[in-house]
Amino acid sequence: MLDRREGLGLIPDQTNSEPRMKICDHAVVAMHYTLTNAAEEVLDSSEGQDPLIYLHGTGGVIPGLEAALLDKVVGDQFTAVIEPDDAYGAVNPSLVQVVPRSAFEGVESIEAGMRFTASDGQGDQQSVAIAEVNGDEITVDGNHPLAGQTLHFEVEVISVRAATEEEISHGHVHP
Ligand code: ZN
Repeated sequence: MLDRREGLGLIPDQTNSEPRMKICDHAVVAMHYTLTNAAEEVLDSSEGQDPLIYLHGTGGVIPGLEAALLDKVVGDQFTAVIEPDDAYGAVNPSLVQVVPRSAFEGVESIEAGMRFTASDGQGDQQSVAIAEVNGDEITVDGNHPLAGQTLHFEVEVISVRAATEEEISHGHVHP
């Protein structure tokens, strides 16, 4: 029998003796993820980079992903399929507009797929993509590039810790 009083230098195994923290509000979560669309094209991934770190409960990740992460623990791996309503929303047709080429002052060539920052003159800026070029009529799309898409996330939880008071009051993670 092992008896710690004999001075064997045994210390409790923290990883086995303490419950692993479940992800909840005010947890700082690090995770690796790969995002694919319905066509199984990889749109984004943390592979080969540092894990994504966020403060749970502050909207740091899209709502569907945050919901899927709730109660997970370090080491958990899972797939989350997230409908547009819980991701970047439905496509809003009113954000698709035809503007004259003259609106792109100083731009030599305009091609579908290019992105521009549009300003409404009141300080608000919006990222828009060129959807179509038809002579002097340029169709721009101000929807988020992932609007209307069902997203598939492969997730691995790398670490979970409690946020500090300062992190909670700031609403973001400190390094
Ligand atoms: Zn801060």
